Amino acid sequence: MRPLRRGTNLSRVAGFNESVVIDAIRRAGDGLSRVEISEQTGLSAQTVSNIVRRMLESGLLREGNRVTQGLGKPRTPLTLHPDGRYAIGVHLDPLVATAVLVNLRGEVATHLKLPSPANAQPAEMLDAIASAIPQLLTQAGIAPDLVAGIGLAAPGPINITTGTILDPPHLPLWRDVSVVEGLAERSGLPVVLDKDVVAAAVGERWTGATLGQANSLFLYLSTGIGVGAAVDDTIIRGASGNAGDIGHLVVDPRGPECECGLRGCLGVTLSPSALVQRAVAARLLSGAHLDAVRSGDPARIDESLAALCALVDGGDAGACELIEASARQLAKAVTTLANMMDTDVVAIGGPTWMRLRNVYLPLLDGLVRPGLVRGNAGKPLTIVGTALGDDVIAIGAACLVLDHEFAPAVTAIALAH
Ligand SMILES: [Zn+2]
Repeated sequence: MRPLRRGTNLSRVAGFNESVVIDAIRRAGDGLSRVEISEQTGLSAQTVSNIVRRMLESGLLREGNRVTQGLGKPRTPLTLHPDGRYAIGVHLDPLVATAVLVNLRGEVATHLKLPSPANAQPAEMLDAIASAIPQLLTQAGIAPDLVAGIGLAAPGPINITTGTILDPPHLPLWRDVSVVEGLAERSGLPVVLDKDVVAAAVGERWTGATLGQANSLFLYLSTGIGVGAAVDDTIIRGASGNAGDIGHLVVDPRGPECECGLRGCLGVTLSPSALVQRAVAARLLSGAHLDAVRSGDPARIDESLAALCALVDGGDAGACELIEASARQLAKAVTTLANMMDTDVVAIGGPTWMRLRNVYLPLLDGLVRPGLVRGNAGKPLTIVGTALGDDVIAIGAACLVLDHEFAPAVTAIALAH
């Protein structure tokens, strides 16, 4: 395969102009005619015609029926052929590990739950991922040669140049694991690694809540808390690929002590275990739930969080008050991030969000708006839930592959074959 960027050799089917055409069609949603592509991209009619012909032949595009609109010339919309290409996405999270197969539009063809990486040795985990691939393809009835590669999303810190997971705090068994090489060897497919929140931000932009937005954030609420950012249509990875660690953003100066020496850092205030601990202290949950917190087992802590959420859903006043207080802490983080990045959209997801979104979402707008510094400049900030649900990071991981292959801006991400 042809090397494209330092550390990468995932083949790009599309050249720059092809990527620009695909990008314009993808963003349009219901398709663009050749004339519209030419107008939107600035490419000449002849260039567009040639590119479209090649892409129709290779199955990446498909042509709709001619539509006559009023007195204008009939237009023939071109859309991405969803079955033109597939990608596999794998999310390694201490709580959830998932593999998905998505089509060119980022739609999930099928998905599989994987064993938790918190309890699995890395080699076993990579074996499990590799053996999930034929299962995914069989379930969806997809030929292996349509798969462009595997995207892997993991909590940081990671080294995206070497494709290594370094030492994520909530994955104690994972120290300096060469996941890109290990999975490429096992699967025979190109593999790309990125941080979980970066993958999610790519996924929401490719097919989800921030499609077509040049400036957006994705906030992930899980055992760890992080943010993925796109600024001026560019995903922010930072110098080492680990941008977005906001665990030590102080959201409650009188909150719990953090290992960093401060109090009320986001990571120790809004984590599932912190919410459970507060619920036990407020006698909303029994002391037995502290055992789950002490165990450090993300699955047990999640069960305790589910018990708290059941109280909220049942209208328990104390539980609702506790979660509403945590909404104010979340709002502080959102306000700071929105101001820092001057963003237009904040999308929020992750297991904690999925459990509490019905409480959080209606409150956030009113809590965040007074603290925004840009006032009437630009668009009003929009705060939305993930459009990709529980699988947002796995879908985002698959979209890393599509983004690398088809997005106009090539970014330095680690790949091996
Ligand atoms: Zn801290």
